[in-house]
Amino acid sequence: MVTAGTNDSALRELAWAAAAQVVDPEIPVLTIADLGVLREVSVVDGQVEVAITPTYSGCPAMNMIALEIELALAREGMPNSKVRTVLSPAWTTDWMSDEGRRKLKDYGVAPPQTGGGRRALFGEQQVACPQCGSTNTEVLSEFGSTSCKALWRCIACSEPFDYFKCH
Ligand SMILES: [Zn+2]
Repeated sequence: MVTAGTNDSALRELAWAAAAQVVDPEIPVLTIADLGVLREVSVVDGQVEVAITPTYSGCPAMNMIALEIELALAREGMPNSKVRTVLSPAWTTDWMSDEGRRKLKDYGVAPPQTGGGRRALFGEQQVACPQCGSTNTEVLSEFGSTSCKALWRCIACSEPFDYFKCH
């Protein structure tokens, strides 16, 4: 909690911790820190500024995330924070933390492949089933329950699952 004696570096740390707890409304097990959406927290003249990079342009969840960050900071005693959207460099699934990938898998969503996100568009990659780990899987629909997910099915255990495919 911010008090009158909190200096800038402590303020920055408190702000990062508060912002890092905000979750993605589409995948509530992942925080914006897990996703790599939270880029930077700075303090300018005592005002907290948070930089976020959307998972893809036009992601409607981003307005909600910005609002949630402002609320989280206000709860910790930082009512006049600013949230800035940084579009360049563009977010890639490589920014997702290992912790985030693990949480995603536990949630039943196949985590994005590292370094090869673009190949997903051309159907070259193998996505492992989050249930049984088999790579004997097929895509059912490029558009799953949200625009960030594709619907896949595991041939080994015949369970459908979501694949997080953003970029
Ligand atoms: Zn399976």
